[in-house]
Amino acid sequence: DKTLHIVGGGMAGSEAAWQAARAGLDVVIHEMRPKVETFAHQTGNLAEMVCSNSFRSDDHEQNAVGLLHWEMRQAGSLLMQAATAHRLPAGGALAVDRDAFSAHVTETLRALPNVTVSSEEITALPDQGHWIIATGPLTSDALGRALQAETGTEALAFFDAIAPIVHHDSIDMGKAWLQSRYDKGETEAEQKAYINCPMTRDDYEAFIDALLAAEKTQFHEGETAGYFDGCLPIEVMAERGRETLRHGPMKPVGLTNPHQPDQKPYAVVQLRRDNALGTLYNIVGFQTKMKYGAQTEVFRRIPGLENAQFARLGGIHRNTFLNSPTLLDAQMRLRSRPHLRFAGQITGVEGYVESAAMGLVAGRLAVAEILGQPLPPVPQDSAHGALIHHITGGAEAKSFQPMNVNFGLFQPLTGLRGGRRGRKDRYKAYTDRAKAAWADWLAAQEEVIPA
Ligand code: FAD
Repeated sequence: DKTLHIVGGGMAGSEAAWQAARAGLDVVIHEMRPKVETFAHQTGNLAEMVCSNSFRSDDHEQNAVGLLHWEMRQAGSLLMQAATAHRLPAGGALAVDRDAFSAHVTETLRALPNVTVSSEEITALPDQGHWIIATGPLTSDALGRALQAETGTEALAFFDAIAPIVHHDSIDMGKAWLQSRYDKGETEAEQKAYINCPMTRDDYEAFIDALLAAEKTQFHEGETAGYFDGCLPIEVMAERGRETLRHGPMKPVGLTNPHQPDQKPYAVVQLRRDNALGTLYNIVGFQTKMKYGAQTEVFRRIPGLENAQFARLGGIHRNTFLNSPTLLDAQMRLRSRPHLRFAGQITGVEGYVESAAMGLVAGRLAVAEILGQPLPPVPQDSAHGALIHHITGGAEAKSFQPMNVNFGLFQPLTGLRGGRRGRKDRYKAYTDRAKAAWADWLAAQEEVIPA
C-alpha cells in the first residue's frame, strides 16, 4: 500500500501532505480537531497559527529564518504560497492574515482528489504502513503516553525548560574563561567544556535586583505547573532567597579565574557547549519566564556577556518533543520503528516556519521511500539540512531543547570565504552556500516532485 498517513494537520502535517500529494501519492491526514481540542487552537482548520501571526523575517540574505522561507518557496511550499497570498504589511517580517491563511491551506488540501482529511484522534502507534507523526507541541495525552511507552520517560519531554543559548563568538573571553568545575573530565577538551563568567559581590547583588524586577510572562490556562521540580525558573529561585542562586547554578566553587587568579569570584555563571560545532553555548540552569526584552537586558549584565547575541532566549512552557538526537535517524525515522517518521515541533525544532520546513522534508523523504527512489541526504549547508543535522545528530542529547533555525547551526565557512570578515558578509556567504546546496538537492528530485 502506497498511502501516506499523516497524524496532525498543523504546520508540519499540512506541508508534508502537500509535498506528497504533488508527487501523486494518496494521503490521509488524521486530525483530531475539532472533535478533540487543545488549549491553544481555536478552530478546526488545518495549519492554524496558535499565537502570533508572523513567520518572522523574510530576509533571505541576512536571516536564517528568511533563508528557510526562500528554500521552502523553491520547493513549492503550500504554506509559503498561502502566507504570500495573505501577507499583511509588517516591514521586513512575513506577517499574515491568520484566518485567510489557514482557510487557504485547508481548502487547497481538501480540494485535492488524492488527499483525505479524517477527523479522528490517533491514540496508539500504528503497527504498519507509511506514517508521519506531526502532532506538535500539544500532542494529545493518549498519543503522548503511547510515545512515552515506546521511547522511555527520559526521551520524551512534556515541557520546555529552555535555558538561553548564546553565540560563542559574542562572548568576551577577555573576561570569561574555559574550565569545568574541579577540572572534571578525562581529556583536556572535557576539562574545558564550560565557559565561566565571574561576578563580584556588587555584580551579583545588582543581578538579583534586576531578576526580581524583570517582567515575567504568565502560564496559559490549561498548562499545568507540575513541571516545577528540578527546573525552577531562575527568578523563582531568586525569590526564595537572595543567596539561593549562589548556592545553586551560580555557585563559585571548583573554579579559578585565570584573568584574576588571586580574586575568588563571588558567583559564577556557567555556559555549556550546546552543539558539536562549538558555535553555541547554553547558560546552565537559567530557564526563565522573564519576557524576552527583559532577558536580553538582564543577561547582558553578566560580565563577559555584555554584547551577547542570543540564538534563542529562555522559556518554560508546555511542549511535547522527542529527544531526537537519540531517537531519530538522519531521515527523521524512529530508529526502533522506521515506518514512523516524525516532523514538526515534536522533533525538537521551534517555531511555525521550522515546523513547516520539517514537514516539507519529511514529506519528500516519505515520497522517495514509498516510490523506491532514494534521495541524496538533505545537504547540511542548506537551512533545512542544518536544522535536521542539529536535531538528529549535532545537538548534545543530554541538554537537548527545541531550537529555532540560526546561523550558529551552520558549518563555519572555510578558506577565503571564512576568516575574519564582518557579520553581514558572513551571513551572505552562508545564504549563498545554502541556496546552491538546496537547489542541487531539489534538482535531484525534479522528476518525482516538480519544483
Ligand atoms: P501544530 O501546528 O500544533 O499541529 C499539530 C496538529 O496535530 C494539531 O492540529 C493537533 O490538533 C493535532 N494532533 C495532536 N495530537 C493528535 C492526535 N493524537 N491525533 C490526531 N491529531 C492530533 N511558534 C511561532 O513561530 N510563533 C508563535 O507565536 C508560537 N506560539 C506558540 C504558542 C503556543 C501556546 C504553543 C504551544 C506553541 C507556539 N509556537 C509558536 C510553537 C510552534 O511553532 C507552533 O506550535 C507550531 O504550530 C508547531 O507546528 P506543528 O505542525 O509541529 O504542530
